[in-house]
Amino acid sequence: MAFDYDLFVIGGGSGGVRAARIASAEGKARVALAEEYRMGGTCVIRGCVPKKLMVYASEYPGLIADARAYGWQVEGGAFDWPQFHTQLEAELTRLEAAYRNTLQNAGVTVHDQRASLVDAHTVQLADGQQFTAKHILIATGGRPFVPDLPGAELAITSNEIFHLDALPKRALVVGGGYIASEFACILNGLGVKVHQYYRGAHILRGFDDEARALVAARMQASGISISCNTDVARLEKTATGILATTESGASEEFDLVMYATGRKPNSAGLGLEALGVPLGRNGEIRVDGWSQTAVPSIYAVGDVTDRINLTPVAIREGHAFADTVFCGKPRQADHELVASAVFTQPEMGTVGLSEETARLQEPVEVYVASFRPMQSLFAGRQDRVMMKLVVSRATRKVLGCHIVGPAAGEMIQLAAIAVKMGATKEDFDRTVAVHPTMSEELVTMRHPVRSS
Ligand code: NDP
Repeated sequence: MAFDYDLFVIGGGSGGVRAARIASAEGKARVALAEEYRMGGTCVIRGCVPKKLMVYASEYPGLIADARAYGWQVEGGAFDWPQFHTQLEAELTRLEAAYRNTLQNAGVTVHDQRASLVDAHTVQLADGQQFTAKHILIATGGRPFVPDLPGAELAITSNEIFHLDALPKRALVVGGGYIASEFACILNGLGVKVHQYYRGAHILRGFDDEARALVAARMQASGISISCNTDVARLEKTATGILATTESGASEEFDLVMYATGRKPNSAGLGLEALGVPLGRNGEIRVDGWSQTAVPSIYAVGDVTDRINLTPVAIREGHAFADTVFCGKPRQADHELVASAVFTQPEMGTVGLSEETARLQEPVEVYVASFRPMQSLFAGRQDRVMMKLVVSRATRKVLGCHIVGPAAGEMIQLAAIAVKMGATKEDFDRTVAVHPTMSEELVTMRHPVRSS
């Protein structure tokens, strides 16, 4: 049977764009891609990229204060949100065009419409056009999830935070994960009075306990109120703002309420159930190690599969799919030892096992260096940096590395190479320090602080 395309990709985010580009340019496949919103997906349009630019914007008050301590005669002015926002939008438009050009240069046909599945080889666009394809890749990502509670419609999510007309004076951020913690810091840095509610005992569940405790302590020291074991019962509009009432009956008024209570896969309305593509409890598309669903012509990558929901992972999954199906280079995406960073202030970078998880697995030695970094110490700030290695007593391999401090995201990327290669504590030790840096502590920790 002759198909219109060799590959039809639904979703123009990180995973879909990579797969389409590689299949078309390197695999010589005839490829089409449909995207209903803006090209680039969550990461570029309403995730990692605008978030990181907001992190940079929010760090300037601290940098200006530091500059004064270093002898510069500078005055900090007010933050001009409209100016920043206009420039942010221009940057996103530039990036969106770059993604579109990449696809065009690779020979991919782009349809700016929503697409859904008619059968295992047929896709229908919103305008009714139908196309057949030998393979279909679903890369539709995820969307923010807001629990059902009275007044939920008064809350915004990370989708809307980039489009505010003005910054609020008082903000409530609900959730204790990556997005909630990052935006609590961003808004705080931009001068907003922030209260973060988290339903559990300590924010950033799943990360190393010692690392997340330091992040939380520094966030609080920077002026963020964090209320754990606290959840919202209802939200109500008042004449002056939004009143949040907690499960325990306490009330507080805010100008803005942002929910960051997780994300759900975008798998609804694609026609998957009718085709017999199994979905998980969360709506995630079930795939095997090749990103293939139970319907052999249909594959899925990225957040819609709810494996590890990070842009670089979606890119690897999309690339591995294209290599396997179109380039004669079969390989599976590697989900082991994926490093990540939480862009809180201070940042946290992590790879491998937390101390708590490692202990459940085998006897470990734990090495920790905690200190005040030179740059901010001089400026009179109370910042603390933490470097931590969790080491297997049996194999001496570094099972986990956790860094809290400025540029932790940059540092963990490099440490992750060593950890991924299976470096032992002794490999770290025989690496000569780069002095004076913060990361030199990673290779100079002599004695374990704990062992089990
Ligand atoms: P997370 O899964 O990280 O956190 C969700 C938070 O919301 C948790 O604290 C969770 O609590 C809480 N929560 C969930 N349901 C409810 C509820 N019904 N009521 C109250 N609280 C609730 O999700 P995020 O939205 O922060 O981020 C989504 C994903 O995006 C991340 O997992 C990550 O993969 C990715 N991401 C990565 C970033 C990075 O690499 N820097 C940045 C931003 C996002 P509990 O802990 O009790 O479950």
